[in-house]
Amino acid sequence: APAAPLHPSDAPASEALFARARRVVPGGVNSPVRAFRSVGGTPRFVTSARGAYLTDADGREYVDLIGSWGPMILGHTHPDVLRAVTEAAGRGFSYGTPSENEIALAEEIVARIEPVEQVRLVSSGTEATMSALRLARGITGRSRVVKFAGCYHGHVDALLAAAGSGVATFGLPDSAGVPQSAAAETIVLPYNDIEALEAAFAADGEHIAAVITEAAPGNMGVVPPLPGFTEALRRITRAHGALLISDEVMTGFRCSRAGWYGLEGPYDSGAPDLFTFGKVMGGGFPAAAFGGSAAHMAYLAPDGPVYQAGTLSGNPVATAAGLATLRGCTDDVYSHLTTTAHTIADAAAAELTKAGVPHTIQWAGSMFSIFLTEGPVTNYDQAKTTSSPAYAAFFHSMLDQGVHLPPSAYEAWFVSAAHDDAALDRVVEALPEAARAAS
Ligand code: PLP
Repeated sequence: APAAPLHPSDAPASEALFARARRVVPGGVNSPVRAFRSVGGTPRFVTSARGAYLTDADGREYVDLIGSWGPMILGHTHPDVLRAVTEAAGRGFSYGTPSENEIALAEEIVARIEPVEQVRLVSSGTEATMSALRLARGITGRSRVVKFAGCYHGHVDALLAAAGSGVATFGLPDSAGVPQSAAAETIVLPYNDIEALEAAFAADGEHIAAVITEAAPGNMGVVPPLPGFTEALRRITRAHGALLISDEVMTGFRCSRAGWYGLEGPYDSGAPDLFTFGKVMGGGFPAAAFGGSAAHMAYLAPDGPVYQAGTLSGNPVATAAGLATLRGCTDDVYSHLTTTAHTIADAAAAELTKAGVPHTIQWAGSMFSIFLTEGPVTNYDQAKTTSSPAYAAFFHSMLDQGVHLPPSAYEAWFVSAAHDDAALDRVVEALPEAARAAS
């Protein structure tokens, strides 16, 4: 007899769609972690999303703790965002000439993060980090870049080495197809290790254009900087004439109005030189940005020699969604996110303790993740001790009970303004069984 499937599925419509998708889309998905590879089973094909909930093709409803991997901070189909998007779409989809909402979105960002005087809008976080890196190389005339193991900055050739997120989920050291020449200029260091950074700069300082770091990493699970670490990045880069790029694609407008910078910055020795943003600032549409001082941004075309462009950059529908989302992120929203996230995390910790499952919960503002290992986790090597089989069992138990967690042990859990008491009750009620499944 055939072996029983590891994860019996009661999602026949999703299974049929997945089979159909696999014929025409590699792995059946358009971003690898969606494929459920590390947890097994069939990804749920979603037909609609509203508030804190996803509905799948089988008509089942799930409390959503993925939040589209960060953007849906107000919850799905928020009425203000929906109105803004509908109105904008009614006035045209893409112009290829400038429009006022681009300025308004840039002003909204610049007003929040003091060292950012100008931003250039792009369409994805990957474009933002890729462009920031090119800009840093153009400004300094240097070629090397330092990144940290476990940090993910999108699928930029030079930054895929020892990256977190899907690269971690699939246990890849790096990606095929990245030429030696593209990776040769990348120096990968352990996160939270000031000595390693000092040694790299002592050996190679005059060739290093930039250090890029996730402001508070969330792609190897949440691993916040130890006190003094970002400060040391700032001090050491400045001493060697290198730029510091703070990647706030995930943390930006999520950890606070001004992202992680709003919680920790500026540092004694100054602020990062360049910032990258994405996710929340697009409100679920493709809008992202990179920015810095006017003097640094002047290196970009058309005024400067560093080329960067985009057919859909500053798209009117995406900027409308982003503006409505940022304007909807009131102080009340941030305190709701914090309370909600802590309610879930506290309940999860209690149940995992009861079930005897080793676990560590780590935070960056209201962003958190649960490592199924003894902590604390301060770098990628430690993050990799999390138990993927235990997470898979936990994940599927939650899914069966109507709660959709990220399908990877290396991802943050995202709550939204729409996660109300009813949604929280469902999560909390599902936890005891899931904790037992993980034990
Ligand atoms: N930087 C960080 C910190 C991210 O978390 C991500 C995506 O998860 C990216 C960059 C890439 O953004 P995108 O997926 O929009 O290209």
